[in-house]
Amino acid sequence: MVLSGRRDDPKLEQLARDVFAMFPNCHRCGQPIARFEDADVRVHTQRVVHRGVCPPPPSVEQVVP
Ligand SMILES: [Zn+2]
Repeated sequence: MVLSGRRDDPKLEQLARDVFAMFPNCHRCGQPIARFEDADVRVHTQRVVHRGVCPPPPSVEQVVP
């Protein structure tokens, strides 16, 4: 979890979890993010993306953006 360098702030921690609860899908690849620990929550823009590189899309179904 990255919170603009203020990762020790419990209020930001709670806000980040709330944002993740509202937006559990990655804003970049559109896939659901399995765990909060796997999410990079941008609190100020209320965007949630995968930490680091997004996983490859599921191979069972073609996903057209
Ligand atoms: Zn992603």
